[in-house]
Amino acid sequence: MPDKVDKPKRKINKQKTKVPMPEQAPADRIQNFDEVPLGYSTEEAISEASRCAQCKDRPCTDGCPVEIDICAFMRLVGEGDLIGAFKKIKEKNFLPSICGRVCPQEDQCELRCTLNKPDKGRESNAIGRVERFIGDHARQHDIKITPDTIESSGKKIAIIGSGPAGLTTASDLIQLGHEVTIFEALHRPGGVLFYGIPEFRLPKEILMEEIAGLSDMGVKFVMNYPVGKAEPLSELRERFDATFIGTGAGLPWFLQIPGENLNGVYSANEFLTRVNLMGGYRFPEAADTPVKRMKRIAVVGAGNTAMDSARTAQRLKPEKVHMIYRRGRDEMPARHEEIHHAEQEGIEFNLLQAPIEIKDNGKGAVRSIICQAMELGEPDASGRRRPVPIEGQTREFEVDTVVVAIGQGPNPLLLSDCPELECDPKRGTVVADPVTMQTSWPDVFAGGDVVTGGATVILAMGAGRQAARAMHRFVTTGNGAPAS
Ligand SMILES: Cc1cc2nc3c(=O)[nH]c(=O)nc-3n(C[C@H](O)[C@H](O)[C@H](O)COP(=O)(O)OP(=O)(O)OC[C@H]3O[C@@H](n4cnc5c(N)ncnc54)[C@H](O)[C@@H]3O)c2cc1C
Repeated sequence: MPDKVDKPKRKINKQKTKVPMPEQAPADRIQNFDEVPLGYSTEEAISEASRCAQCKDRPCTDGCPVEIDICAFMRLVGEGDLIGAFKKIKEKNFLPSICGRVCPQEDQCELRCTLNKPDKGRESNAIGRVERFIGDHARQHDIKITPDTIESSGKKIAIIGSGPAGLTTASDLIQLGHEVTIFEALHRPGGVLFYGIPEFRLPKEILMEEIAGLSDMGVKFVMNYPVGKAEPLSELRERFDATFIGTGAGLPWFLQIPGENLNGVYSANEFLTRVNLMGGYRFPEAADTPVKRMKRIAVVGAGNTAMDSARTAQRLKPEKVHMIYRRGRDEMPARHEEIHHAEQEGIEFNLLQAPIEIKDNGKGAVRSIICQAMELGEPDASGRRRPVPIEGQTREFEVDTVVVAIGQGPNPLLLSDCPELECDPKRGTVVADPVTMQTSWPDVFAGGDVVTGGATVILAMGAGRQAARAMHRFVTTGNGAPAS
């Protein structure tokens, strides 16, 4: 593949709407775990990039937590300089194929895009789709950007957790000459990107290839090493010049209703881990860990985790998948694209229904879930309209499986042996400075979901970048704070 496609000058594409991206038809895709959107061809990517207005003030970049120069890479793609575009993205983001797939662009860069004028029938530039194309093109053509060789600083950094926060911190710090070791509790790196987000949204092969780039740069991975159990944090930090905590929010919340301990009730984390990490849908032929054969499933919640659970369940060939959510459609926190795909795939949305009990089938397993009908009241602290019960109205859903996907918080394993490290007592999150990500232990930094609670991939990456800057200052000057 040549570096430049034969297209010498950038043309302007005045099309009002995004160049559509082909995808598997709903009836086909629920029969498999293959990726749903199929990605742009080179011509489609160039055509979409040529819609970019090349604004001077670049509002899209302001909406990107890792500050990618979006107009610059769009211009390069429009000119056919695909390698130049890849280099431009890589200056700020080492996971373009991943972010192009899973970032909520509609709430970030694309929301701020000047083209985004729904009242005039004009759609934003499809920034995520073009970023994904550039990342995929580079991988498919084995294009690598080798960072300049940097003299070793002699400083040792520990990173706990290999999700997007830990990986970004590692990438930035190794490029500054530090020796970086990542400690990961599971046997695969990637955090939620591996064990949570399903193959049909983010193929694992892509994740492994993007992470391999870090090993190539010299980052060491220590797998199957749950810090807090394998070694206390207080001891581990003594072996390093600085430590980053990026352990995410992997502890599921439950509904706290009767019947939640029946067989057939899963947390979304367990359900998705069985299928994604352990390959449960290929049991017993190609995997050791089973996932229950289910006929009728209720998934409780309406965030990305709930959509992923429902869409995963639908691929296990059940009779029916219900989503149950206590608020209305406008309040659903999942990405619009995921909601749209879930509906296309035949998931039934049951809105304004709050589970109050899970019934026993007489053998200790789930028979049904009872829900209280709700209506919307005034907005609550989250800004969304509060669900209020409608007295006397309930509904019973006959199901044999319930997947609870109502949120999660940090796992206390790591933090339980270090009560001196300041945490938020209510949320269980680590308290860190919002700019430097430094914790109450000056040599320990933290970022991503373990600080914010469940958020997004790109926010975790942004926090990792902030922490890396401060950690570099800390190990080189003894002070994490930026120069005033
Ligand atoms: C099912 C699901 C779907 C999602 N979909 C999207 C999406 O489409 N778009 C989006 O932007 N966001 C999405 N999110 C949210 C996003 O994935 C997270 O915000 C992001 O992964 C947080 O990154 P992190 O690095 O902080 O933590 P994580 O990704 O959770 O990684 C933390 C890592 O730390 C490891 N760890 C934990 N404790 C220890 C310990 N004691 N010792 C060693 N290692 C430890 C864990 O095993 C894990 O690998 C989704 C989340 C879920 C659960």
